[in-house]
Amino acid sequence: MAIKLVTTAAELRAEGARLLKEEGGSSLGFVPTMGALHSGHATLARTAVAANDVTAVSIFVNPIQFGDAVDLDRYPRTLEADMALLDAEGVDLVFAPSVEEVYPDGQPLVRVTSGPLGEKWEGASRPGHFDGALTVVAKLLHYGLPAGPAADGGAAAYRAYFGQKDAQQLALVRRMVADLNFPVEIVAVPTVRADDGLALSSRNRFLSAEEREAALVLSRALRLLEQRANAHEPLDLPSAVGLVRSQPLVELDYFDVVDPRTLDPLAENCQDTPFRGEGLAIIAAKVGPVRLIDNIPLDS
Ligand code: AMP
Repeated sequence: MAIKLVTTAAELRAEGARLLKEEGGSSLGFVPTMGALHSGHATLARTAVAANDVTAVSIFVNPIQFGDAVDLDRYPRTLEADMALLDAEGVDLVFAPSVEEVYPDGQPLVRVTSGPLGEKWEGASRPGHFDGALTVVAKLLHYGLPAGPAADGGAAAYRAYFGQKDAQQLALVRRMVADLNFPVEIVAVPTVRADDGLALSSRNRFLSAEEREAALVLSRALRLLEQRANAHEPLDLPSAVGLVRSQPLVELDYFDVVDPRTLDPLAENCQDTPFRGEGLAIIAAKVGPVRLIDNIPLDS
């Protein structure tokens, strides 16, 4: 069946319900994105299509999560190509609302507060970012909620898909859904990388060839920690930090090993003793005009 584009919340609810009924379905998968889709997004869509009777993808560049108007203005918008990519993955519905549809009264007065978990790491350099991101994720998850009963009369299963690439966002969405009782299951999808290791991102297109080459040091440094964790060696974070700092085009913001749920540093686990347990190595750096983030789960 051909993919369908809807632009209002009312259409999304009606079409979602119609498709569920038509397919005799009992599950709806929802994938929130900001468009400019690449293979990472395609993997999220594919994962959702494989597990659900109906899959909807939203494309919305959310103004209230951008601190910088220039970054918002230059965020790539490629709806036609996005539709083709999602169609090829078997997605049923694309929800691409206008800013006025999502924020009819202008900036929302009441927002989701991300709290201390939203103030560290990415939140420290992008104040208000996670309040804006969680507010729109809350709205999108409500828009996507299956409207009618499943074919068997019970409630339709509702799953939403998020990339491990944005680890802090994922941790915050999980907490929001748990803390505020959202009736949705959150599914994490591993980070998709280019063959040379660079994590795919809609912003990579702004890197020059030289900057892109320099940016590879992020994933190399993460892999170094992963290898040490797998070998039960001390992580020796300072040497990995040194590797990143040796690349002159890369301006390091943070690089640490943290608890995957609280994002608190696991400093004592990193130095002289073999790494044990579960951790997440997280990194952020500016490369030319682009701020890049990446991470790798450590499990030893
Ligand atoms: P964005 O459009 O950048 O807001 O991302 C939409 C969703 O795609 C988020 O859940 C991201 O974490 C996920 N995503 C972005 N890049 C990747 C990637 N390289 N691998 C896996 N998921 C990704």
